[in-house]
Amino acid sequence: MMKHSEAFSLNGSLALVTGGGTGIGRAITDALVEAGARVVVAARRKEPLLETAQAYPGKVFAYEYDVTKPEEAPRFLSRLEQEVGIPTILVNNAGIHLKKKAEEVSAEEFRRVPDTHIVGAHALSAAIIPLLRKAGGGSILYIASMASLFGIPYVVAYSAAKSAMLGVVRTLAVEYGGENIRVNAIAPGWIETEMSRKAMEGDPERKRKVLSRTPLGRFGSPEDIGWAAVYLLSPAARFITGTCLAVDGGISIGF
Ligand code: NDP
Repeated sequence: MMKHSEAFSLNGSLALVTGGGTGIGRAITDALVEAGARVVVAARRKEPLLETAQAYPGKVFAYEYDVTKPEEAPRFLSRLEQEVGIPTILVNNAGIHLKKKAEEVSAEEFRRVPDTHIVGAHALSAAIIPLLRKAGGGSILYIASMASLFGIPYVVAYSAAKSAMLGVVRTLAVEYGGENIRVNAIAPGWIETEMSRKAMEGDPERKRKVLSRTPLGRFGSPEDIGWAAVYLLSPAARFITGTCLAVDGGISIGF
């Protein structure tokens, strides 16, 4: 039997975390490093990336990368392979939010959301799969949402993107399971970050509703998602693929 310390360890792994310098992505980065991984953090803004890399010299590497330029994914991964090594973990965490009445969402605004969450993430998944094959396997993790599971008002494009994500996870899991590539998702409940703060702003009724139907009675912290990510990416979860783990204080089973 594997030792406990080995089962939950990511020692020796290199992970790529999109949006890894802020909010949930930063907490995932912190937890992965704590579990022994080295991490490439990739996003558009330099400062949060550099700040994260500086917190972990020699363990976290900052790369500017825009997921809405999917044609750049293969070149980006070759560059990582040459400069840092082959990542065997990809966390598709980068995301944007759009809160607006559905009838007011233009086609252009709508497109931007799945372009980031789905098309951008897919380009990285597609580009990393040959590297995972070369490495003998690996793991891809998508950060989904309660909007993957519920009908939440005013977030039509976000719901479309996050619901589609679960289909992507199931498809990739069956397509690549035979090559020792696992693909899973985490659906965070309401987690305190800049994005959720903006989504709740001026909407105390929404906040009350969230808390009243969360059995654990509070918002989650980004760290809660970080530890769930470590679990799903670690050898302890080696028989888990195609699943979506709700880390939500019970809201998805609450009444
Ligand atoms: P943040 O706004 O802090 O994080 C979003 C991250 O994505 C930022 O680091 C941002 O960096 C990056 N990003 C956005 N667009 C792009 C792009 N085009 N290319 C590269 N990186 C990009 O919010 P959260 O931490 O809350 O969100 C992280 C993920 O968790 C998202 O997928 C979100 O949908 C999901 N989520 C959040 C929940 C919450 O309650 N907070 C609940 C459920 C899901 P930059 O702007 O520098 O590019």
